Amino acid sequence: MREFELEVPAPDKWGEGLVSVPGGEPVDIDLRVESVHEGMLVSGTAGTTYSGVCGRCLTDIAQPVEVEFQELFAYPGEEAEDFEVRDDRVDLEILVRDAIVLSLPFQPVCQPDCPGLDPATGERLTENITERPQESVDPRWAALQNFTPEPDAGAPRRDVENTGKS
Ligand SMILES: [Zn+2]
Repeated sequence: MREFELEVPAPDKWGEGLVSVPGGEPVDIDLRVESVHEGMLVSGTAGTTYSGVCGRCLTDIAQPVEVEFQELFAYPGEEAEDFEVRDDRVDLEILVRDAIVLSLPFQPVCQPDCPGLDPATGERLTENITERPQESVDPRWAALQNFTPEPDAGAPRRDVENTGKS
């Protein structure tokens, strides 16, 4: 059994979603290779950083990701295997890439409770959650605000005008 610590750049962009690991991003690999009867049992962890945009508010994000992997690389035999020992070497690229790509979030968010974009203005709500009043109304219903009964009928004149237009 042998152990290795590697740092290698991602050879390509890994992932096709909102976030991905850019080509050249360092990938840290802690590797354990065990000789077994059928071949080499390869296991370990791989860590890197993915980047992209929040799926709700489109803010740029970058987050660490770490995955575990394990695969038996078989000695070449009569049947072709996906993972084989070739020339006494094992090629980890597909193994590590697939493990990382599968772990990338499908709906990445900049923070767990990201409120996304304001449906009315398109502005990010992240920065000013506290300032935004609760009374924010769906714009499709905004016209109905004019029909709200006014307890004090002191100045209803504006409401009357608005009602007439709509
Ligand atoms: Zn966000």
